[in-house]
Amino acid sequence: LYLKKIEIHGFKSFADKTEIEFEKGVTGIVGPNGSGKSNISDAVRWVLGEQSAKTLRGSRMEDIIFAGTTQRKPLGMAEVSLTLDNESNKLGVDFSEVTVTRRVYRSGESEYYINKSLCRLKDIKEIFMDTGVGVDGYSIIGQGKIDDILNNKSGNRRILFEEAAGIVKYRNRKEESEKKLENTNQNLIRLDDIISELK
Ligand code: ATP
Repeated sequence: LYLKKIEIHGFKSFADKTEIEFEKGVTGIVGPNGSGKSNISDAVRWVLGEQSAKTLRGSRMEDIIFAGTTQRKPLGMAEVSLTLDNESNKLGVDFSEVTVTRRVYRSGESEYYINKSLCRLKDIKEIFMDTGVGVDGYSIIGQGKIDDILNNKSGNRRILFEEAAGIVKYRNRKEESEKKLENTNQNLIRLDDIISELK
């Protein structure tokens, strides 16, 4: 999977609409301290569905919206879009290019889009499941992440290997089926009760 482009508007220090194209051969982003390099990786995490303000180096989710400067008023909305190449159909959808978008307003309302169609966070998670790209994937290795992985309990480390092996999708489906079975069993028990009351 190849990240082609990221568009950022109103996210952290990116008050103006900013488009970054990752042409083949781009291997790094350089800039002075505090110029917004890490804000770009925060934007990638956020659009993939990150729900923790702390992981995005803030205390509340609102902190990700441009807060204003002495010369500029704060903004009321943040929006980030990621465009990925899907020629190899790794994302399992019938588009050669996939753009995922997340938008949030100061009221806290959040919206997600896949190729400009409104969708649920669940849809974004599903599309990236088992690709390594999703917010729980390993495509973004932040500072300290390697130490975390090495120090982690084996169970937590296993999650990473399961994602790489592409079996998370099946584990999730199994869990959903088990829940449905349990509900059906409960319904059957209730039915038995009703039948014996009627007898
Ligand atoms: P370093 O090399 O020091 O790690 P960096 O290039 O990674 O720096 P970032 O941490 O990405 O820099 O950016 C920090 C800048 O983003 C700070 O100047 C901070 O004021 C600004 N910033 C963060 N959140 C917001 C916000 N909500 N509104 C406006 N500016 C913000």
